[in-house]
Amino acid sequence: PPKQRLLVVANRLPVGARRKGEDSWKVEVNVGGLVSALMGIDEFEVRWIGWVGVNVPDETGQKSLTRALAEKRCIPVFLDEEIVHQYYNGYCNNILWTLFHYLGLPQEDRLATTRSFQSQFDAYKRANKIFADVVNEHYKDGDIVWCHDYHLMFLPQYLKENNSKMKVGWFLHTPFPSSEIHKTLPSRSELLKSVLAADLVGFHTYDYARHFVSACTRILGLEGTPDGVEDQGKITRVAAFPIGIDPDRFIKALELPQVKDEIQRLKEKFSNRKVMLGVDRLDTMKGIPQKILAFEKFLEENPNWHDRVVLIQIAVPTRTDVPEYQKLTCQVHEIVGHVNGKYGTLTAVPLHHLDQTLDFHKLCALYAVTDVALVTSLRDGMNLVSYEYVACQASKKGVLILSEFAGAAQSLGAGAILVNPWNITEVAASISYALNMPDDEREKRHDHNFMHVTTHTSQQWAENFLSELEDTVAEAQRRT
Ligand code: UDP
Repeated sequence: PPKQRLLVVANRLPVGARRKGEDSWKVEVNVGGLVSALMGIDEFEVRWIGWVGVNVPDETGQKSLTRALAEKRCIPVFLDEEIVHQYYNGYCNNILWTLFHYLGLPQEDRLATTRSFQSQFDAYKRANKIFADVVNEHYKDGDIVWCHDYHLMFLPQYLKENNSKMKVGWFLHTPFPSSEIHKTLPSRSELLKSVLAADLVGFHTYDYARHFVSACTRILGLEGTPDGVEDQGKITRVAAFPIGIDPDRFIKALELPQVKDEIQRLKEKFSNRKVMLGVDRLDTMKGIPQKILAFEKFLEENPNWHDRVVLIQIAVPTRTDVPEYQKLTCQVHEIVGHVNGKYGTLTAVPLHHLDQTLDFHKLCALYAVTDVALVTSLRDGMNLVSYEYVACQASKKGVLILSEFAGAAQSLGAGAILVNPWNITEVAASISYALNMPDDEREKRHDHNFMHVTTHTSQQWAENFLSELEDTVAEAQRRT
């Protein structure tokens, strides 16, 4: 029998596309996240729908790219530069992303953002309509449509308006903030109502789901039930589905000769030091300056550790064209310089800071040789780096220091040392505790986390969400 079709709709397709000529393209799939989650599931025939991240204004380009993507089961959504600016940079990143992570807008941007709010919101709806048109064009009876993230909060409503029988799920990959925060959005009600058009609405943690339900009850005046939200007899199921990783991909990588060589090289390089590691996108919500300040405090208070520890901070550049991010980069460089100037010697520095992306194998090697991983996000939907670190630590059984504001704190809380990243005294003390932890406690904590990471995989996450969606739709049909 033909397989159940699944249309996965996200702002970005999981591919990179480079134009080679008038009508030829180089298309490469980026494995990781959603792709690896769905690769392992056999029962669906998956189609990806999304924007490729490049502007393709001409028809020849659009047609040839569509053909090239079809080989990868991808269907492009074309957005022009103006709409990308207003929808993606404006409404999605400046407004929703910032608000959902509880980050206030920088003072000087606030009024500008308030002024442009309406036009950006209009562009957001227009963009969501364009996504909906592409989905409708490719939809076949019985397909499941899984919409992803804050970019596409209008998609469930637009899809259901066109076809109320469509099975529609929506999943948010960021936190969903307290209703008091969501309330400040001028478009607060419309966004909630459009998401509620979905059959199933999913979040990483129970807290985010609860915030969403209370936003619906307090702002829309709807009824919250144990299952979700009820609006005149129609129930939208709301639940938590914590994402995971594909642990085998990491565990197997550690056996590759080039990764083993890299591990050996790093071990020799840092033979007389304990290795601490941070891996983050260079984003305000990751709390990189706070982490470095805590590390500085640790060095200040523990002179005996000065030449026995190194913190390697990988800060992957993102949105390098945005002034706010350029400012953060400068700020981080300044603190790094300060700490190394103060605690470095003629031959070594305590802090290695790289504004770089590491390739997968280098990253695995680094995870494997790390004694203490330091995740100090101020807010983080889940934080997969903490999961990946745990997966690579079967032999070393290193310590994870984890922000209580990362979704992962809900699942790895019993094995990790949880910290408030704003409290650098507490983080500094945790670093000391982690570096001095007795072997048996380290093992116990690691085993706890390792068990969780290897039994709550991304594949199971996808399976759980999709089977819950099927059940919810079946249940609704029984009721009517
Ligand atoms: N990552 C990467 N190259 C790097 C550093 C990180 O590919 O040099 C990956 C890392 O393996 C992880 C992802 O980036 O899968 C970061 O995900 P996370 O959930 O921790 O944070 P996000 O960036 O999504 O906020």
